[in-house]
Amino acid sequence: MTPEQKAELKITIEQRIVDIEVNIKSLEETSKPVAPDNALGRLTRMDAMQIQKMQEANLQTARSNIVKLQEGLSKINEDSFGQCHYCKGMIGFERLKALPESNMCIECAEKYGG
Ligand SMILES: [Zn+2]
Repeated sequence: MTPEQKAELKITIEQRIVDIEVNIKSLEETSKPVAPDNALGRLTRMDAMQIQKMQEANLQTARSNIVKLQEGLSKINEDSFGQCHYCKGMIGFERLKALPESNMCIECAEKYGG
């Protein structure tokens, strides 16, 4: 990976962290427990609880993505940056640019899922 590509990825990662932080804030709002007397309009309480469960799952994914992105950012200047978690091969610039929180190469992603 060239220094230019690393610099580009750094910006991508930083931007992504900001996006996810905004996302987390709004998910935290909507994933609050459903109050029994909540005025839900057309939503039934069951629907609202189902949505809340989904939001919680999204929130967990978002939080773990932030951790991965910050890890990536902290070692962006190290040789191990962009290295696949499984096979230790390089993940590749294009993939990291599209999916900066990814910690595995495309082959391993296909093999192990993710
Ligand atoms: Zn791999």
